[in-house]
Amino acid sequence: MSGIAYNLQQIKGIVFDLDGVLSPTVIPIDNDGRPQRMMNVKDGYAIMTAIKNGLRIAIISGGSSERIKKRFESIGMKDIYCDVPKKLPVLMEWMKNNNLKKEEVAYMGDDIPDIPCMRSVGLPCAPHDASSEAIEAATYISRFDGGYGCARDLLRQVLISRDQWMVDEKDFEW
Ligand SMILES: [Mg+2]
Repeated sequence: MSGIAYNLQQIKGIVFDLDGVLSPTVIPIDNDGRPQRMMNVKDGYAIMTAIKNGLRIAIISGGSSERIKKRFESIGMKDIYCDVPKKLPVLMEWMKNNNLKKEEVAYMGDDIPDIPCMRSVGLPCAPHDASSEAIEAATYISRFDGGYGCARDLLRQVLISRDQWMVDEKDFEW
């Protein structure tokens, strides 16, 4: 059994916010004012494995970075939406295009702009260091912080529920 109070076998799509979820909430800014995000390689493995096993994975972010886009494309992600000031219409469109019902979708967000999306999916999730508002909106709060494995934590439990975690020879490769 997972630590998530939800039937994870229903989940077919998982959407992540970028800053504060896939990247830590505190980020250095370079001399030109650009954020220097960090990526978690263990999240990367779990995202790659989830995609290989047919889960739909997306990022919806208010920010943008070509380098970040490249990073996620390199592990098989296609649905990367950047510079999105209002996330809900993008989520709704993505769910429609992928034939996903509310109860089949998990969304992990860390702050107030994520809350409309969190309210519109079956399984709203938050990292451990999310804002109090996002924590309140979440059904599942990971024990890991944003950028420090919260995405891995969720994906791992979903994949275990589908019997798709460390079962295939290919799971032991990049
Ligand atoms: Mg965020």
